[in-house]
Amino acid sequence: MNRKKLVIILICIFAALLAGAAGIYFVLNPSAPVLIDGYTPETKIICIDAGHGGSDPGAVNGERQEKDDNLTLALLVAGELEALGYTPLLTRSDDSYLTLGDRCEIANEQNAAYFVSLHRNSASESAKGVEVWISSKKTAAERKLAQKIMDALTEVGVQSERGVKAGTQASTESDYSVNKNTKMPSCIIELGFITNGEDNRLLDENMEEYASAIARAIAEVME
Ligand SMILES: [Zn+2]
Repeated sequence: MNRKKLVIILICIFAALLAGAAGIYFVLNPSAPVLIDGYTPETKIICIDAGHGGSDPGAVNGERQEKDDNLTLALLVAGELEALGYTPLLTRSDDSYLTLGDRCEIANEQNAAYFVSLHRNSASESAKGVEVWISSKKTAAERKLAQKIMDALTEVGVQSERGVKAGTQASTESDYSVNKNTKMPSCIIELGFITNGEDNRLLDENMEEYASAIARAIAEVME
């Protein structure tokens, strides 16, 4: 056997092993998110998810509750999206409680093009800034969405740009529920720390600018 033949045989064996491994992976993980690098949305529906609500206040700082900040911002983002010609789909438009599963179901059933969840962070008083979370598996389309949003928010002005992060705080292999269980590209925006006075001041003073920045960033990835 000459050297060329041997190389071809080795390549064939490698390709067969790879195909087998991929097959086993999808059989064992039927709900594993699909890689959506060349993602083309089929609808103009954008799901905006105001985190927490009802009996779940989210993070709290004195009288201030995360669920209220999330809702105020979500309503503003929805208005901005509508003005740009998109169809906003709110998981909640009042102070009601929804499970994480409910939120994903709303987006999946309506075949939303993107899912953007709004939250506020919480930690010690010194922690500050904005971060955006994407899943560990749905790659390019999500990274683009999240980075556009991060850049747009930074342009408005943030204390610290904490960046786009994949996975969860605990592990880059695991995912937050709404990122894991939505079919479309999704991200979670942590718009500053509710535990940081300056982050709260920035949010209060720039609420409309932040909402408009988020909507414009989403519109840009939809183009
Ligand atoms: Zn939250």
